[in-house]
Amino acid sequence: MINANKIREDFPILQQKAYGKRLVYLDSAATAQKPQAMLQAMDTFYKTSYANVHRGIYQLGEEATLQYEMVREKVAKFINAQREEIIFTKSATEAANLLAHSLGEKLQEGDEILLTEMEHHSNLVPWQQLAKKKKLVVKYILLKNDGTLDMKAARELCTKKTKILSTVHVSNVLGTINPVKELMALAHKQGALGIIDGAQSVPHLPVDVKELDCDFLFFSGHKLLGPSGVGTLYGKRKHLEQMEPFLFGGDMIKEVSFAGASWNDVPWKFEAGTPNITGVIGLGAAIDYISALGMAQVAEHGKELIAYARQELAKISGITLYGPKEGIAVVSFSILGIPPHDVAALLDREGLAVRAGNHCAMPLLSKLGVPGTVRASFSVYNAKEDVDVLVAGIKKAQEVFRQ
Ligand code: PMP
Repeated sequence: MINANKIREDFPILQQKAYGKRLVYLDSAATAQKPQAMLQAMDTFYKTSYANVHRGIYQLGEEATLQYEMVREKVAKFINAQREEIIFTKSATEAANLLAHSLGEKLQEGDEILLTEMEHHSNLVPWQQLAKKKKLVVKYILLKNDGTLDMKAARELCTKKTKILSTVHVSNVLGTINPVKELMALAHKQGALGIIDGAQSVPHLPVDVKELDCDFLFFSGHKLLGPSGVGTLYGKRKHLEQMEPFLFGGDMIKEVSFAGASWNDVPWKFEAGTPNITGVIGLGAAIDYISALGMAQVAEHGKELIAYARQELAKISGITLYGPKEGIAVVSFSILGIPPHDVAALLDREGLAVRAGNHCAMPLLSKLGVPGTVRASFSVYNAKEDVDVLVAGIKKAQEVFRQ
């Protein structure tokens, strides 16, 4: 069992007050807060082991490289991949761009890319841009009224023309957990590659890339209690070996002459330039922290909080809840007569940090028929009491608006 009140003590920022009230941070889908152990690991690394990686043959350089590469091993283990299959990127967004760029080179006019109607812009715009450039067709798996994907539509839309199926695992707006294993199988049946945007799933669910049989999966460190500026792309080795690099420069090469260059082995072929070394160290410490809690327990906690939040929020008059009954970590809603940004601003005064807006998923919001929602999102440091504070805050906001 997750003891959120105890866990909260590990997060220095959550000891602060906002407007004299306990800070209730409900915006972990945007970015999660950081445990002391993660901050400490980065601090210690800078103070004792910092040097560039894969370059210096002096002791510090070797120590930095060793620690950096050990995190690669840790990340691989965390999602059940091989070490060579883990590429460190700047973010989930950069990983999606890498894929669109490198996989896009092999696509031909008329080829189809299948996405869903609930994609974050980062798993949408790179594919749309690629489609424009190469005259490809982007299709979308429909969203049903209950906030889940229409799998019948998915089966019809995934054809021999589909070359890539890329889907979000957990929606950052609705909290929907998509049947990604089924979607990957669907892609493979038609000879397409299957990609998972794990930005909102890896922090909240046990994710096993072998079990899901995805060709690629990406996520961001900062949503996983790690630092910002570091992300991960997993790819099956056989694909990574055949793909062209995304960025060119130092470290990603094997040999360079005035005439040209050859590429380093995977995964370094995809890590041009000095990486976010300390960020990677922080990511490793974040994975240690969350692994010690147990991902099965983390998932149970995330689902329980959403079930409780939906149950309590539904009691508020004038509220509309979006998304399926059984989601994880995220709940979106709107309040009759109060624009989302006003709700968020009034909640802020109660010490509540929630997000209002389109959550970088404008097409999904247009499908829901609203320009924006209020979103509360949870992590391991949130307890049911935080939901109670949220409900009380919304009721207070309604009173203010009634005056
Ligand atoms: N995909 C999803 C589902 C997300 O929620 C986010 C971040 N909100 C991203 C991708 C992009 O992550 P980042 O901004 O860290 O690149």
